[in-house]
Amino acid sequence: MIDIKSMNVPELTEFVTQNGFPKYRAAQISGWLAKGVTDFDEMRNIPSDLKTFLTARCYISVATIEKKLESRYDKTVKYLFAFNDGERVEAVVMSYRHGRSICISTQVGCKMGCTFCATGQSGFSRNLTASEMLAQIEAAQKDLNIRISNIVLMGMGEPLDNFDNVIKFIGLVSSEGGINIGARHITLSTCGLVPKIYELSSKKLQINLAVSLHAPNDEIRRKTMPVANVYPMDALLKACRDYFSATGRRVTFEYSMISGVNDSDDNARELAQKLSGMGCHVNLIPVNTVEGTGYKKSDIKRQKSFVNILAEKNITATVRRTLGSDINASCGQLRRKHSNEGGK
Ligand code: SAH
Ligand code: SF4
Repeated sequence: MIDIKSMNVPELTEFVTQNGFPKYRAAQISGWLAKGVTDFDEMRNIPSDLKTFLTARCYISVATIEKKLESRYDKTVKYLFAFNDGERVEAVVMSYRHGRSICISTQVGCKMGCTFCATGQSGFSRNLTASEMLAQIEAAQKDLNIRISNIVLMGMGEPLDNFDNVIKFIGLVSSEGGINIGARHITLSTCGLVPKIYELSSKKLQINLAVSLHAPNDEIRRKTMPVANVYPMDALLKACRDYFSATGRRVTFEYSMISGVNDSDDNARELAQKLSGMGCHVNLIPVNTVEGTGYKKSDIKRQKSFVNILAEKNITATVRRTLGSDINASCGQLRRKHSNEGGK
């Protein structure tokens, strides 16, 4: 069966015309898909022979809400979605003054095995298709009756380990006939797959790149991020500098502060030295405790001291406000909890 929602308009046009239907049907079908229909029968201006053909040959990806949690403290909403084959992922909708942001998943699980991450600890099941990434946004928009303005690929999975589908998704979601969220409103977060960063930069997209660093040197990084054994920090930082030269887009670094692991004043000084002259921004995130990892977040005093040292060395850093702390808003935690309670 063909995943019809992963096709862009030119592909859909080729598909319908090759099968003997007029070209203009492609735009009609695409319009219905963008509206989030879940069944071909809902496509009212499509003749029945075409509907029958589509039903026989294609399927429409949907994300069904399995669980929905709303924060008592802010407007954060977390979803556990199930896809057509029953696999589940998480997504989080956050409200800010300037709009609404959705954090979506790109894989079911993750192969990268970061030790602090609930997703990394649960293993890998499969890549998501482009349509399954779109379906998470459509389902959230429909459920909350809102329009989402920003997308972050920071849910479950490593986006650059699912490169082709993610690139396809970015093209589809930013197209005018589709959900229409421009590349500048999309942030892709990676644990640092260096060759893929170069491949991404060759695409010359206007998306924002966030790199999960979480350490000031390879020795510490290797303790929490196995990927550091494959791509050393020097090569990663060079890839980030080259990314900026090629695209003109600044890179943001993510740094989860873990008490006693990567949060000393010396760690801050070393980080500042490594990032010096990059014109980058550092997002500090007090680590979310995942059961069984034994990690604890750095206390407020540590957080402040770390930020101040970076600021003294002209590296702008902010401690990210943790939204939805009461609903396990850090991705991977809800699915894990669900599994432990007898779910998949
Ligand atoms: N795989 C990509 C994107 C998904 S993870 C990546 O690693 O960048 C999104 C972000 O959440 C990453 O910066 C990741 O390091 C961070 N993260 C994962 N588990 C976390 C936890 N328990 N506490 C705080 N941040 C966490
Ligand atoms: Fe995968 Fe990102 Fe989690 Fe690491 S932090 S295991 S790369 S999802």
